[in-house]
Amino acid sequence: MSGSRGTKKAGQIPDHEEVWQQAKWRARVRRQLLAWFAKCARDLPWRRESTPYRVWVSEIMCQQTQVATVLPYYERFMKSFPDIQKLAAAEEQVLLSHWEGLGYYRRAKSLHAAAKLIVADHGGSFPLEFEDVLALPGIGRYTAGAILSIADGQRQPILEGNTQRVFSRWIALRGNPADTMNNRLLWQVAEKMLPRKDAGTFNQAAMELGALVCTPKQPDCSRCPVATACAAHQAGVELEIPGKVTKVSYEDRTEFALVIRQPLVDVGTAKNRGNRAQKFTPRFLVRPLPEGGRWAGLWDFPRTTQVSYRDVVEATKQLSAEVGVNLVSGMRLTTIKHAVTKYRISLHVHDASPMEGGLEPGKPWKYASLAELSKMPMSVTGRKIVQILADDQQLRLPI
Ligand code: SF4
Repeated sequence: MSGSRGTKKAGQIPDHEEVWQQAKWRARVRRQLLAWFAKCARDLPWRRESTPYRVWVSEIMCQQTQVATVLPYYERFMKSFPDIQKLAAAEEQVLLSHWEGLGYYRRAKSLHAAAKLIVADHGGSFPLEFEDVLALPGIGRYTAGAILSIADGQRQPILEGNTQRVFSRWIALRGNPADTMNNRLLWQVAEKMLPRKDAGTFNQAAMELGALVCTPKQPDCSRCPVATACAAHQAGVELEIPGKVTKVSYEDRTEFALVIRQPLVDVGTAKNRGNRAQKFTPRFLVRPLPEGGRWAGLWDFPRTTQVSYRDVVEATKQLSAEVGVNLVSGMRLTTIKHAVTKYRISLHVHDASPMEGGLEPGKPWKYASLAELSKMPMSVTGRKIVQILADDQQLRLPI
């Protein structure tokens, strides 16, 4: 192997190998990789029937989510929304319910918006021009390339987490692959590596190698089909590649959620009198989260999300303003630890009630029973609070 990018002074370690410029090397890697993929590819539902719609949904679901987690969601989604028309016509709340637990809900909203656009502008057929696909909400260069190469065999390169690492190792790229110059170089490699026909199979094979063999911390080079061609392995530097990526620095944050029960005194009013089932059904104050913020469109208990709060009294003051009534916090029900982007959050969940009188919620707030909450889309932590309330309810059942 020889050569490097840029000017190389004597004794300087090249920042990558230029083996990928050799047609023979590329042909060998392709052959080895594709033979391995034909034998070892996972049997995934979107591979059994690779229409643009099915590949698109799988690509969006698999962003930042493990394939094993995606599988049951994908099957359920396809049953409810088997084609673009059904997805475009879906109620947003129903769609979000199908996404509940997958996280990054903006993905579901973008899918929805894109499906509506496809119906309006492309007669309901997924567009097959690269620029048209790229113009759809939630679709970037990688996703457009993946859909068109896999579902339509187009010669489009891809670069995502797995292929970025695999290609970096193939050419022993020592720098941070996310740096502009390195990223540009990796896109060139991705393009040059594509076979003339069936680029989609090559793209899937490269991603699969990254997912199953060439993993970030423990690349299994002894089992790798391209080990004899891989520059990083040949130089014994596979563990040093990809090069240093700036680590996310996490910030601790304390947030509070309040569980406000509909006062029983309000339930037995003339309107409800005689309805015994309703009389004993506890209801809890919730609202759909506003657009532009975290988990927009999902239902949630009153909760602070913008800044860290010192204590529940301070947080209750803020939430009183949001609910429109002076609240007083009570006992802590639980603390849930979770992470959102760069925040490590301790979410303290407290009972709370209006300081005086009842609380007739105005829009967007409303009281919902546990049965109603079970059908409303919620974040993972919102659902945990519902579960705690349901368990508590079980304990309180009359003997
Ligand atoms: S030889 Fe090792 S480092 Fe190279 S591609 Fe295979 S698993 Fe990755």
